[in-house]
Amino acid sequence: MDKWIKLSLPHKSGSEMKWVEEAYRDDWFVPLGPNVDRFEHLLEEYQGQNRKVVALSAGTAAIHLGLVMLGVKKGDEVICQSMTFSASANPILYQGATPVFVDSEPATWNIDPDLLETAIADRIRLTGKKPRAIVVVDLYGMPARLHEIVKVAERYQIPVLEDAAEAMGSELLGVKCGNWGDYGTLSFNGNKIITTSGGGALICPAEDAAKRVKFLSTQARENRPYYYHKEVGYNYRLSNISAGIGCGQMETIDERVARRREIHQLYADAFANHRFVTVHTDPSPEYKSNYWLTTILINQDSPLSADQLRVALAEKKIETRLLWRPMHMQPVMAFAPYYGNGVSDSLFASGLCLPSGSSLTDSDVQTVIDAIKSLCPQS
Ligand SMILES: *Cc1c(COP(=O)(O)O)cnc(C)c1O
Repeated sequence: MDKWIKLSLPHKSGSEMKWVEEAYRDDWFVPLGPNVDRFEHLLEEYQGQNRKVVALSAGTAAIHLGLVMLGVKKGDEVICQSMTFSASANPILYQGATPVFVDSEPATWNIDPDLLETAIADRIRLTGKKPRAIVVVDLYGMPARLHEIVKVAERYQIPVLEDAAEAMGSELLGVKCGNWGDYGTLSFNGNKIITTSGGGALICPAEDAAKRVKFLSTQARENRPYYYHKEVGYNYRLSNISAGIGCGQMETIDERVARRREIHQLYADAFANHRFVTVHTDPSPEYKSNYWLTTILINQDSPLSADQLRVALAEKKIETRLLWRPMHMQPVMAFAPYYGNGVSDSLFASGLCLPSGSSLTDSDVQTVIDAIKSLCPQS
């Protein structure tokens, strides 16, 4: 075998160049233009529920502007799921606010609604003030227990930002991920469900909010004949060239999500009743993960630990990755308060992400399955 089987690679639709060439022909290179408008329109149709979408330069930029829109400022606390990629939490620091990390629950691996409530009550008791916002993540595409999280947030009147960077196309109770919070974010980085070679989007509750996000993301320039600024601005808009790639990618999004789910099913069937390997799967029919990455847990009796399996698979040119190391275990976040229950620590110790890109063939997936079965024999 000479080629690597990778975790998640970009996957062409074939029609990206049509939009990129049109932009090139018309000299539309700037971070505004017809492809940006078209891409936003396609995203709004896809998300549904009359959400307004603003295309931005990265998922991280979208999270940052979402927090700005929610009024997160220096001295505030923001509750954030601990088990996530650093990009969910870094924008809290950009705003000079303090993240308060909350652990996961075992069914979805996302923020535990009961522990969330405990944390909110405790922060109010300790600081005399409510956390300014809640950042919830749909990790690996699995929807969080969003219906319950939103209820807790409503009870305390705290807004929610749903980081759906990994969950484009996932649904809970028939509602798309990214639509559950006051704001939602998507990522179009190279390894996500669709790509613009780098980009993201902020899903906004209404037109006026979207308008303000467009204003803030283009340097907060007031409408005057000279440059005049009353507020801090950002250079966060998506370029018209990148948006052209996004327009092409949107033509095949349904197939891409369907293929990720098929790949998950191949793994789930192969390891059903396996002694050492459990495939992370929708906890009930209300949940419909896009299975951005299929993830597994290796139990304690396994001949190889998750990390040993990762190393052994790499020798066979199969790329896997340990789960996101929780934020409460990151040196840069060590100062932040943390409400734990041991779930994310144990997931991190025993979990592995498997090759899951929509361009993988069934035979690639079978190669991964055979390799894991031979490295972790059941007898
Ligand atoms: C990828 C990702 C982001 C950041 O998106 P970028 O487009 O890379 O900035 C944020 N949160 C999560 C959970 C992600 O996986």
